[in-house]
Amino acid sequence: MYFIDKSICTQCGECAASCPFESIVEQEDGSFVIDAHICTECGECQLNCPFEAICEKDENKESA
Ligand code: SF4
Ligand code: SF4
Repeated sequence: MYFIDKSICTQCGECAASCPFESIVEQEDGSFVIDAHICTECGECQLNCPFEAICEKDENKESA
């Protein structure tokens, strides 16, 4: 699954604009969150984040 590293994210909004499924939603505090229920894991947002703030988490691994 994909997630946004808030320590890197500048809240530019590029990812939300690039997601073909509108699964990245802006929160009230201005941060962006990926809705895992809608996300198809297409990877488009990761490619479009200018700051490499979107990471892919392997749920089968505890580290990394
Ligand atoms: S991986 Fe694809 S569907 Fe999921 S949030 Fe990123 S752009 Fe949207
Ligand atoms: S494109 Fe990257 S830096 Fe911009 S809001 Fe999305 S995760 Fe944050």
